Amino acid sequence: TDPALIRNFCIIAHIDHGKSTLADRMLQITGVVDDRSMRAQYLDRMDIERERGITIKSQAVRLPWDGHVLNMIDTPGHVDFTYEVSRSLQACEGAILLVDAAQGIEAQTLANLYLAMNADLHIIPVLNKIDLPAAQPEKFAEELAGLIGCDPSDVLKVSGKTGEGVRELLDHVVQTIPAPVGDADAAARALIFDSVYDTYRGVVTYVRVVDGHLGKRERILMMSTNATHETLEIGVISPEPKVSDLGLGVGEVGYLITGVKDVRQSRVGDTVTSAVKGAQEMLAGYEHPKPMVFSGLYPIDGDEYPELREALDKLQLNDAALVYEPETSAALGFGFRVGFLGLLHMEIVRERLEREFGLSLISTAPNVVYRVIMEDGKELTVTNPSEFPTGGKIAQVFEPVTKSTILAPSEFIGAIMEICQGRRGQLLGMDYLSEDRVEIRYTLPLGEIIFDFFDQLKSRTRGYASLDYEPAGEQEADLVKVDILLQGEAVDAFSAIVHKDKAYGYGVDMAKKLRELIPRQQFEVPIQAAIGARVIARENIRAIRKDVLAKCYGGDISRKRKLLEKQKEGKKRMKMVGRVEVPQEAFVAALSTD
Ligand code: GDP
Ligand code: MG
Repeated sequence: TDPALIRNFCIIAHIDHGKSTLADRMLQITGVVDDRSMRAQYLDRMDIERERGITIKSQAVRLPWDGHVLNMIDTPGHVDFTYEVSRSLQACEGAILLVDAAQGIEAQTLANLYLAMNADLHIIPVLNKIDLPAAQPEKFAEELAGLIGCDPSDVLKVSGKTGEGVRELLDHVVQTIPAPVGDADAAARALIFDSVYDTYRGVVTYVRVVDGHLGKRERILMMSTNATHETLEIGVISPEPKVSDLGLGVGEVGYLITGVKDVRQSRVGDTVTSAVKGAQEMLAGYEHPKPMVFSGLYPIDGDEYPELREALDKLQLNDAALVYEPETSAALGFGFRVGFLGLLHMEIVRERLEREFGLSLISTAPNVVYRVIMEDGKELTVTNPSEFPTGGKIAQVFEPVTKSTILAPSEFIGAIMEICQGRRGQLLGMDYLSEDRVEIRYTLPLGEIIFDFFDQLKSRTRGYASLDYEPAGEQEADLVKVDILLQGEAVDAFSAIVHKDKAYGYGVDMAKKLRELIPRQQFEVPIQAAIGARVIARENIRAIRKDVLAKCYGGDISRKRKLLEKQKEGKKRMKMVGRVEVPQEAFVAALSTD
């Protein structure tokens, strides 16, 4: 295709503002998907995406429109997947910034806009959901125009649901987004912006060609690893993969298959060139996403450890952001310490392990990564609280911090500041987006955000606040390890790293919560919270003899069996810790603060 006829753009927005629905309409209106095969969120191909109604992976689709070729990329909106967005942006010249006309600008609207501006993209401001009775297109057009510095009349208004305004939007894309520019005669250079493992086809690599041309049966070179492969298949997605015999030229977006089996051999951000007379200089890539949150994952049934390892290996083929290493816990046995991009990523990985691989897992409370400097100058990176050194030999502890942005109606300023201050936040600044909406910026420790922060924020603002955060280095902090002891034995999986001022309250809360969560056993179970050798809280679970069959008067056998089965079912999520049966909830009890 002549590059002058190509337009590459993505749709960016806060979660739920309607990206995937707008993408659906575009697929339909351009005739790529006929009405019969249409289903909602067409591009959300993973089961878990469809069920939760969220996009996790970006998707690229080629759409014919008015003699042009549009390559559209639908992106995820959640903060955990910002890196997915930023790499999609680099495959584009323009972005549709979508804003819900009943909600207005939210935290990820801003975050994504800044990413797009940094990538030098042409931005088309669009208000969506104008069919909603609660829509206030005039008010929010002004807000949006103020934000990006255009006239309110330049803000397009559409409904992804009814299709109103979508044709005009597509025309606008053709008219205003610049065509890609590249050197057709130069050696091929293509940027890998996604890489996905497919059981049948191996790794499918998504590329945006910048210079030159990539063809079928060509030997290609991955510039960062120097690995060479042969392109077995090359094509475009529209909306299913379509082989392209002509290959891909300047400005085109498509996929290639080389038969490799591991996404790490086709690294996102790498540059693909020809193996013979290839390019010398790589394209600017991306930083590899860094895990921010760690948690222990253990099979409930210790025999399933090899299955868990295999499942993690398989999942990683498709999720380069997932990292893990084996770990042993005195309480939980053999398992893995797994690194995630954030809490949603953690939930999704866990759910996929259980659903797609049939595993039953115990996960421990998530924690961030600490850097500990000992008095003798040694430095430790602590990804597991139980490895936090005890004793007086610690010189300094550093914790990761974030720059957090909260958007909310101004009536909630007080409540928001109270929450942030309670979590060791430092106010950075505050701006009014309009008369009654405010943007508040804080430096907040990441470790404070992962404990229930978002839920609290939502409940204290009646759901109106939205949050975005980005890593902002580290800070020194006065942190201690709080251990939890059952029957006098510290349970490593319960250890947590807490700020010194909060350690006492944390210990008391945890002991109380565990007393409620751990069922009575046939013996007494004392629960203690301790810092080092100093016990700071204590609770007791009294003994009980639970005989479920006592009620059955010996008569009805089938009823008896049912009861026993029910009891077994209830035990499925229990783990023996020493002699004590502990339910899964207990391991993440620290997560909920009330
Ligand atoms: P995404 O998270 O940005 O991809 O948002 P989705 O496309 O998944 O949409 C979120 C919710 O908003 C879904 O329930 C959609 O049905 C709804 N929605 C999206 N666009 C419109 C619209 O134009 N009008 C109305 N009324 N609802 C919409
Ligand atoms: Mg979506």
